[in-house]
Amino acid sequence: MIYLDNNATTKPISAVVDAMRPYFEECYFNASASTAAFTGADKPREDAAAAMTSLLNAEDSSCFIFTSGATESNNWVFTALAKSSLRGKIIVSAIEHPSVSEPASEIAAYGFEVVEAPVDHQGVVRLDALEDMLTTDTRLVSIMAANNITGVLQPIDEIGRLIRKFSPAALFHTDATQSVGKFSIDLQENWSNVDLLSFSAHKFHGPKGIGGLYIRPGIELKPLLLGGGQEHGLRSGTTNTPGLAGLAVAARGVDLFVTNRIAALRDNFECHLKLALPVIIHSDTTPRLSNTSCFSIHGVAGEDIAHDLACSGIIVGTGAACSSGAIQPPKTILAMGVDYQMANSTLRVSLSPSTTSDEIDAFLKKLIALYASSRT
Ligand code: PMP
Repeated sequence: MIYLDNNATTKPISAVVDAMRPYFEECYFNASASTAAFTGADKPREDAAAAMTSLLNAEDSSCFIFTSGATESNNWVFTALAKSSLRGKIIVSAIEHPSVSEPASEIAAYGFEVVEAPVDHQGVVRLDALEDMLTTDTRLVSIMAANNITGVLQPIDEIGRLIRKFSPAALFHTDATQSVGKFSIDLQENWSNVDLLSFSAHKFHGPKGIGGLYIRPGIELKPLLLGGGQEHGLRSGTTNTPGLAGLAVAARGVDLFVTNRIAALRDNFECHLKLALPVIIHSDTTPRLSNTSCFSIHGVAGEDIAHDLACSGIIVGTGAACSSGAIQPPKTILAMGVDYQMANSTLRVSLSPSTTSDEIDAFLKKLIALYASSRT
């Protein structure tokens, strides 16, 4: 199989699986038991927090609360606000993942004014529009760091500075699910205005079902889950020791040096694609994740092509969503002003460090053949 859908999920590296196994087979004990230091069940959490602290250059390991992943972390941010006594404005970008946009819509019912910051044709949040929206009663701004469909990077440092200037009382949350492990993040330098950051281990070659929320020191959030008091009372539930053991190894295994090689593969692919087919490559003139290529082919439905590719053993994404039983084009692409027809033709290719140029060549060849047969 040729797997080109790494923004959906990645293959856990073998060291991750190896690190998890003992926590299923031998050290399957409860990390909250008073005997945890004796059994060693407390180690994965400690390791995972230390690894994330170093990967993101956070202040210290107490800044990380582990969850089942970014969906939970994102939901938590909004629920925590709804549970607080604060009310006011919430700003989210127009291209957020549903795990941000849906809780954002829901929180309006709790007495918040929720507004959407628009993006330009490349998918970058319009800073002029954002600035106009930022008010002193703004409580939360949630803007993703890298988009899952186009890979577009938002200027998180600039956005952070605007928030501090115009909405000093607001929390700045970023969904960094597609960013962690793909480029360098420094929470004490260029991202020092980020207050809350969500992540999922399976997007950086770790296991599924484990992730977390970085919470800057001094920020207090109401818990999402109550019960056993795990995670400093902020996220109850028996600690996922195998998941944390895997997350720790995945975080330590992040290798940012491969980024240039992946970008070269992606750029070469896009050059050949443009010559071969009638395509629009989305967001190709703005900073993007080096592993992501998102494009629309004139006159074909993205879902159909992705299905035919899958039948030939090639897996790509479309970013399409299923709503009311019907397939909808990616919201991100529509928000960028692309017309419905073209948005419906979107395909997303996302590479991993192990993607080879032979795989890309085979994919391109098959894509061209499928396009040709769709014309006859
Ligand atoms: N945010 C973004 C940007 C994502 O791409 C995803 C996963 N597709 C999520 C949040 C949710 O992550 P998870 O499914 O691991 O909870």
